[in-house]
Amino acid sequence: MPMDAIKTVAVLGAGTMGNGIAHVFARAGFHVILRDVEKRFLERGIETIGKNLDREIKKGKLAEAEKGTVLGRVQPVTDMGAIAVADFAVEAVPERIETKRAVLTEADGILRPEVILASNTSSIAMTTLAALTKRADRFVGMHFMNPVPVMVLVEVIRALQTSDATFSATMELAKKLGKTPVAVNDAPGFVSNRVLMPLINEAVYCVMEGVATPEAVDAVMKLGMNHPMGPLELADFIGLDVCVDIMHVLQEGLGDPKYRASPLLKKYVAAGWLGRKAGRGFYIYEK
Ligand code: NAD
Repeated sequence: MPMDAIKTVAVLGAGTMGNGIAHVFARAGFHVILRDVEKRFLERGIETIGKNLDREIKKGKLAEAEKGTVLGRVQPVTDMGAIAVADFAVEAVPERIETKRAVLTEADGILRPEVILASNTSSIAMTTLAALTKRADRFVGMHFMNPVPVMVLVEVIRALQTSDATFSATMELAKKLGKTPVAVNDAPGFVSNRVLMPLINEAVYCVMEGVATPEAVDAVMKLGMNHPMGPLELADFIGLDVCVDIMHVLQEGLGDPKYRASPLLKKYVAAGWLGRKAGRGFYIYEK
């Protein structure tokens, strides 16, 4: 389908990433069909979009009068059948292969044949997901960063089966959202997590071996390397369980023991110290 023909976008999942993806498409003028399994998840997603639009208004990035227009472009649905009219679709459902399989095969059966289906997965092989559908050449990775309305990068990931036309249309679409797409081939962790997670893991080893405190490790990386957040602060933000899972994906996918998750990271996860969302990780957070 030519890029200009894309007017309506289906977003599957209204969670952390899904509502952010719906937000940026609606901001760019697309009609968005936002699908989740229950009304309460959709309500929460829409509420978050509203709050994030308010933040943009406060910063002077959006006129107050525009808020209603942007929100009006997001159509929340629980019925998967409603995505039949979409010209492009992105899935952002939980990072479990069984959930992805169920959602992708159902969407594949409903979307028109020419429609591109994209996945926002952080760590599942795009080539595996593409193979679950009957449109593997029209399947692509569109890896947005959290928080989606703020972060400029979109990793556009080519599965082995992705056609050139699908790939270039997705790169163009990301630009229409005001994002900067970066071309990446399918490989464990893509580029973002392949580089970031070993950095975080090494920071945890420094703490485990008594090289420095979490505060000191983060200070070195912020003040010395100009990172806006230290690796341990960032790990707490991402979720330490998610970090361990991604290290496992790297270790399994690349077969190199250098990707083993730090025992201290695993211990924190075992203790339920998952980071910000649990109120405690490498730092303690007020609930
Ligand atoms: P989340 O748990 O916040 O949201 C997932 C949403 O999907 C939930 O609202 C859930 O109800 C819904 N859902 C479940 N089954 C569904 C179905 N069959 N149809 C439609 N919706 C369904 O998860 P998230 O953090 O937004 O992650 C979504 C995806 O984005 C994952 O693949 C994750 O790896 C990826 N991702 C996450 C981040 C992040 O920082 N959170 C960053 C980049 C990519």
